[in-house]
Amino acid sequence: MKDQLISKWEKKGINPKIIKAFKSVPRENFIDTNPISKAYLDQPLSIGNGQTISQPTTVMIMTQILDPKKNENILEIGTGSGYQAAIIAKIIEPTVLTTTEIISQLAKQAKNNLKTSGISNVNVIHTDGGIGYKQNAPYDKIIITAACPKIPQPLVKQLKQEGSIIAPVGDLTYGQEMIKAKKVDGKLKKESLGRFVFVPLKGEYGF
Ligand code: SAH
Repeated sequence: MKDQLISKWEKKGINPKIIKAFKSVPRENFIDTNPISKAYLDQPLSIGNGQTISQPTTVMIMTQILDPKKNENILEIGTGSGYQAAIIAKIIEPTVLTTTEIISQLAKQAKNNLKTSGISNVNVIHTDGGIGYKQNAPYDKIIITAACPKIPQPLVKQLKQEGSIIAPVGDLTYGQEMIKAKKVDGKLKKESLGRFVFVPLKGEYGF
């Protein structure tokens, strides 16, 4: 099943370094109480607290859009299981990725999942990621893995000039548009990259 996913992504043009990261991260360590047999189905799975681990193809596409590189300072909003964080961390290793999660139980679970998988270059912070994480700012890149009504302003502030942010933006009924926005002269230059459905961002800048 893992091989089927890989050949699908190779045909789609997913970057080999992202596929390499996928091969090296055991998704079965991130799926909570779901049966292991479901780990490599191309679907989102419940991870408790009403949240989901994204579908593998969505993780690959978002990583491709983000295009993480070694030495880049990256922030994720919405740690969830920690799986998306693990994929990025493998690519930028040994650079440390900062990721934020608003639900404390999930933050704890993600830390465990990452530890079990031998990934040590992820800093999981239990906080409202909509307000960002000033302590490690400014960031080269920011990835939001929850649906947001619009890109939270504090995140734009914490982004470097020429830095980019990707986020599913839109409403909850009709789904969201994946937006990649680059910070040019303090403002965001946006581009739309297809429709997706995510669980909602909570907190001050959420729904
Ligand atoms: N990236 C995750 C999937 C994200 S699901 C993975 O790979 O498994 C979205 C996550 O965002 C959920 O865990 C939810 O609790 C979290 N979330 C929602 N609002 C948030 C906020 N304001 N700050 C940080 N995390 C938030």
